[in-house]
Amino acid sequence: MTGSPASDAAHISSALPAGEQAVLDAVPTQLYIAGQWCDGAGGDTVAVDDPATGETIAEVADATPDDALAALGAAHDAWYGGWRDSPPRERSDILRRAYEAIVERADDLALLMTLEMGKPLAESKAEVTYGASFLRWYAEEAVRLDGRFTMHEAGGGRLLTMKQPVGPCVFITPWNFPLAMGTRKIGPAIAAGCTIVVKPAKLAPLSTLMLAKILEQAGLPGGVLNVITTRSSGSVMEPVIRDPRTRKLSFTGSTRVGRRLMAHAADQILRVSMELGGNAPFVVFEDADVDDAVHGAMVAKMRNVGEACTAANRFHVAQPIAAEFADRLAEKMGALKIGRGTDDGVEVGPLIDEDQLEKVAELVDDAVAKGARVLCGGERVDGPGHFYKPTVLADVPDDARLLKEEIFGPVAPVAAFASEDEALAAANDTEFGLVAYLYTADVKRALRVSERIETGMVGLNQGLVSNAGAPFGGIKHSGIGREGGPEGIAEFLETKYVAIAID
Ligand code: NAP
Repeated sequence: MTGSPASDAAHISSALPAGEQAVLDAVPTQLYIAGQWCDGAGGDTVAVDDPATGETIAEVADATPDDALAALGAAHDAWYGGWRDSPPRERSDILRRAYEAIVERADDLALLMTLEMGKPLAESKAEVTYGASFLRWYAEEAVRLDGRFTMHEAGGGRLLTMKQPVGPCVFITPWNFPLAMGTRKIGPAIAAGCTIVVKPAKLAPLSTLMLAKILEQAGLPGGVLNVITTRSSGSVMEPVIRDPRTRKLSFTGSTRVGRRLMAHAADQILRVSMELGGNAPFVVFEDADVDDAVHGAMVAKMRNVGEACTAANRFHVAQPIAAEFADRLAEKMGALKIGRGTDDGVEVGPLIDEDQLEKVAELVDDAVAKGARVLCGGERVDGPGHFYKPTVLADVPDDARLLKEEIFGPVAPVAAFASEDEALAAANDTEFGLVAYLYTADVKRALRVSERIETGMVGLNQGLVSNAGAPFGGIKHSGIGREGGPEGIAEFLETKYVAIAID
């Protein structure tokens, strides 16, 4: 193990602008275990590339299974060593200090995020604000944990109900929101008195490492948060998930991987939270304000270049306004400026890698081969990086794959419907159930459809649902559990009941 994280940074990028290099140089690139920054036991590293250029910008430590088990050991020791009994005010103050540090350094953190995963700077800044809001929210919740004390219904006894931290947690997070997907778990877990091993995605691990450094500087004791980076997530994390010292698994990522991790978790009857894939319908009724709907569609579709679990994946629009909606959406999508997220005025960054780019192109080609019309885009951008043009497809047939599969790219397929029942049937015709967007001016319809739509969240006349105070999560194959709001901290608390005789 070694000392200062910053001095151990092992960045290999060259010829980056000085501001970008300075931001990268501030990031610790080692594992963080028991309050120490250290190399992986095998001594290897994993390259982190800028998706806009394909250039390697950093090398982070490549953990072995033993490193991950050491991290779990540290989380276990820190929990039994006192964190579970730490004063709620102490936990709250640490989260508050970290929140303030993030806000103060928002520009640098946004640049870091853009460098590692490509989204335009303005969007990175928005994620920094959103990510920090979970630390603030749970700083406020940490001192409000309570229980119940009631009389036995027959008298003569008392019922005491208390909330206790679940214990050491394992978190696995994706690359698409590299800060917020971490803080949404780490904030409530720290507030509840849990300890943590977190493994960010190898494609974008730098924001999580920086977050760990900020929490360390905010006074978080060693061992409460441990960070593992690795190129071999399956073989490194499976032993940790199967280890009886782990008490909770919280995963954000694809349904395919989530299903596999739930199977590992079953052996220990591990508590799990699963934030998985989506296939969000965006439904526009005839009575909707089309201007509002197009504005909301841009937000719901283009946030994160469409690489969001909440991204509107398909647009179901009432027949009489479908053509107008598609044309106006195409006009706006076609006018967006594409480029490296650090460049002025850029609104659309690259996709994360070549695999993702090929998948998006394949889904568009499939829809076009089946009869969809391309209103704008429909092709990749030549040159370095993984860029795909914002695309609107009209007259998309029911059997097009992109109506069923998560696109994860800047592609908006528009299909028309003839009635409310037909719209609902189409919207619910998916194994996913994360979020739906509804546009209508009719209050009765809004409530009727909100109740019947099979998703965990609904955006009603708005294209964005994420909020630290709200329960984020899905049903069906989109997941189990909620993040954010009071529900988010409940995921990290066990309920204990004490039956008390008083006479
Ligand atoms: P992914 O491939 O499932 O990866 C997610 C995380 O799991 C990464 O850290 C990945 O690490 C790790 N992982 C992959 N295989 C693993 C294994 N066998 N054992 C342990 N860990 C493993 O998903 P992604 O491509 O990063 O993210 C996109 C998906 O996440 C989309 O489906 C999206 O909808 C979903 N998502 C959901 C939410 C939500 O709140 N519901 C939010 C954001 C994203 P490596 O990549 O380093 O291998």
